[in-house]
Amino acid sequence: MTGPGLYLHIPFCRSKCSYCAFNSVAAQRDTVDAYLDLLARQIEEYAALEWCGGRRFSTLFIGGGTPSLASPAKLAAIITLCRSRFSLADQAEISMEANPDTIGPELLTTLREAGLNRLSIGIQSFNNAILAGINRVHTAEQAIKAFHLARGCGLANINIDLIYGLPHQTMADWQEDLQQILALAPEHLALYELTIEPESPFGRLQAEKALVLPDEDLLADMEEATNTLLSPHYQRYEIANFCRPGRQCRHNINYWLNGSYLGLGAGAVSCLDGLRFTHESDPYRFMSAVEHKTTTIRQAECLSRTARFRESMIMGLRLIDGFNLRKLEKRLDISATEVYGPLLAELNSQGRLLRQGEMIRLAPDWLPVANQVLNTLV
Ligand code: SF4
Repeated sequence: MTGPGLYLHIPFCRSKCSYCAFNSVAAQRDTVDAYLDLLARQIEEYAALEWCGGRRFSTLFIGGGTPSLASPAKLAAIITLCRSRFSLADQAEISMEANPDTIGPELLTTLREAGLNRLSIGIQSFNNAILAGINRVHTAEQAIKAFHLARGCGLANINIDLIYGLPHQTMADWQEDLQQILALAPEHLALYELTIEPESPFGRLQAEKALVLPDEDLLADMEEATNTLLSPHYQRYEIANFCRPGRQCRHNINYWLNGSYLGLGAGAVSCLDGLRFTHESDPYRFMSAVEHKTTTIRQAECLSRTARFRESMIMGLRLIDGFNLRKLEKRLDISATEVYGPLLAELNSQGRLLRQGEMIRLAPDWLPVANQVLNTLV
């Protein structure tokens, strides 16, 4: 369905959101532009290596952080560089993440010309009080305007990220968010339940018992409302991802199917045929290493076939239709029984996993508590 993916990480944001534990720091545009100059050097370096640059990539994804914080011309130059140095498939999916306050006509037209064909907008909520409460720097009005601008610039493949389970969020708030989604009609949606990361500002507030979050019953109702409202219009194809027919995110499908990918930039992870390596995560140390031509790789490991099999199971079962277990066994030359013993048969007989021919998937009833099943397969 898709091939290796190329990922570029831009670890800068205008300011930090209260729930965020991603690899990003607050910075100004000058810093982001300087980083992109150094990232361009790393792109050149890896593209020249036959064992990774010699592959044909199906997707390019520029994520962060907030990539759209950079100058449009610098971002366009990075896309152009990737297209000229790496072999990208003719119909490659070229995506970038952007926040509403950084989306303008110049950014969109410049990137469209460079080949961008998918935009992922981090909106998170259409409620201004909730947005302020999580320290987002944009408003709902800016988000809606940004979406229409992107459409007006010819982007026919747009994703919106939303979060539910936010502090003080009510069922009515979430339903209004979903209605707004239906009115905008993006091609793709990523709807995440808020998770509290201990190292985020919310993690610290929670430790002090100073965070008011929706309870489990309300979260379950929100998930049910999501499926009820969206199912006539969107296909849920992954636990947290919905799309119009044929609009799955190809870059992420490759992750969920545990395919190969090359990640460049601070903290970016690569996994090429079982060799996994991770770049320096601190943006400034990363920049210094590139500048001084020293290695940016901080961790590398060769995954065993068993480890790859287990990871493939955990990722692949996130897909609603599951994946082809027989093909995985063939690809890694190891059987599910060698890895798990009788466990898969037990989960199957308990109705948690479903087997149909060569395919395996999570039973629909277990989707709301998917982690309970996936944790047994780690
Ligand atoms: S915009 Fe995204 S990456 Fe940046 S601080 Fe907010 S959640 Fe984190």
